[in-house]
Amino acid sequence: MTLAIAFDNSYARLPDRFYVRQPPVAVAQPELLLLNLALVEELGLDAAALQSPDGVAVLAGNAVPAGADPLAQAYAGHQFGGFSPVLGDGRALLLGEIIDRSGKRRDIQLKGAGRTAFSRPGSDGRSPLGPVLREFIVSEAMYALGVPTTRALAAVATGEQVRRERPYPGGVLTRVASSHIRVGTFEFFAARRDTEALKLLTTHVIARHYPEAEGALGLLKAVIAAQARLVAQWMGLGFIHGVMNTDNTAISGETIDFGPCAFMDSFHPATVYSSIDHHGRYAYDKQPDILMWNLAKLASCLLLVIDGDEDSALAEAQAALNEFPELVRNAWTGVFRRKIGLRTAEDGDADLIGDLLARMAAGEADFTNTFRALADGTARDQFLDPAGFDAWETAWQDRLAREPEAGDLEQRLKAANPAIIPRNHRVEQAIEAAMEGNLDPAARLVRALARPFDDPDADTRPLTFPPTEDERVQRTFCGT
Ligand code: AMP
Ligand code: MG
Repeated sequence: MTLAIAFDNSYARLPDRFYVRQPPVAVAQPELLLLNLALVEELGLDAAALQSPDGVAVLAGNAVPAGADPLAQAYAGHQFGGFSPVLGDGRALLLGEIIDRSGKRRDIQLKGAGRTAFSRPGSDGRSPLGPVLREFIVSEAMYALGVPTTRALAAVATGEQVRRERPYPGGVLTRVASSHIRVGTFEFFAARRDTEALKLLTTHVIARHYPEAEGALGLLKAVIAAQARLVAQWMGLGFIHGVMNTDNTAISGETIDFGPCAFMDSFHPATVYSSIDHHGRYAYDKQPDILMWNLAKLASCLLLVIDGDEDSALAEAQAALNEFPELVRNAWTGVFRRKIGLRTAEDGDADLIGDLLARMAAGEADFTNTFRALADGTARDQFLDPAGFDAWETAWQDRLAREPEAGDLEQRLKAANPAIIPRNHRVEQAIEAAMEGNLDPAARLVRALARPFDDPDADTRPLTFPPTEDERVQRTFCGT
């Protein structure tokens, strides 16, 4: 059975200096581990063809389908505050773009496809299976939670070992994104003062993501607004991205690069998981500020191509950036208002929410379970000292009494507060089992995470439990 994919590769039509063309490097023994059938459908692809040996060969990078134009994208980036003028796809290749069933353009990328012109010296361009499964599980969970995100189409095992601190089985992830263009893509050209490329990139990105945006300034404003909405959604789920470098900030406003990311169990605003984030730069509560910093980097790139004289361009870019904190605040308040069942806005709402979060931190309350338990009146059980919650509950009830109509509060709370999130220890257990050859826990986890707002049943209830002392994951890794 042959796999037919109708590619339309707009990025590959940009000039040569945007990328380096090359085919993926073949692997020893491809084996399909997970295939996302819902996404296959959305993309208008043929599941049977993808599962056939020819299809699996494509997903592993052992065959290049007709119409694909594999290339490594060039980008730069600020990593932990330091600038690298050349990063680029060092272990990923864009196969090409397709138009999905709803008419949207989607990138199809292989992650872990072998060395490229951008690979760091001595690196292998590969990925261990763990990070592949991790990204599959967590990105699909994000999607089901209603957060803009790159998607996972397939995970394959390569039949090869990848050497890190010890050998691991290798994997390739097929990632789908509305594009893989990052703040770092703009930085790549800005660092070279290549204004012609910046203009082409701006035009490309506007056509692709923000057709309403006018010029470079319009684009900047649109990205600022999209990123403000995104980070507010992360905050509302207790999500910590972990490596918010500018090369991991997508222009589309999708969550990208699920490395050492994690959902918090018990709530503390300063939580950090990433093993490489020694100073807590990307801690939970720092995420809005860091995003502002990343967007300032984007603004300084776009300054080179904003219409008008230098002074007015600077003033306009600065003004756009200064809007960001308030955009985040408003989006954040909107997200958390929903989480406590409010449909109207009052001035004191942000304080009411902040007060709950402060009590949750003091009471070591589980982030996800506390909000979910607002629906059935058991939230106080999540607190070390339940009396700390009771005082807040009185204020909450008073506030709810001022909503114009009660409606079905329980349903509303359940629709805003997931029961099931990809808890770290569950993700780790699923990966451990997969590395022993048992894919069932990963497949079960993926299935449950596709319906995060449903009431758990006997099978899925264990997924709602916080980790025991033995299960707790202290550190997460990039897995590069
Ligand atoms: P990331 O940690 O995914 O944000 O990647 C940062 C940079 O390191 C990107 O340029 C990657 O392509 C590159 N990189 C990460 N892992 C590898 C690897 N195993 N081989 C080659 N390049 C890598
Ligand atoms: Mg990255």
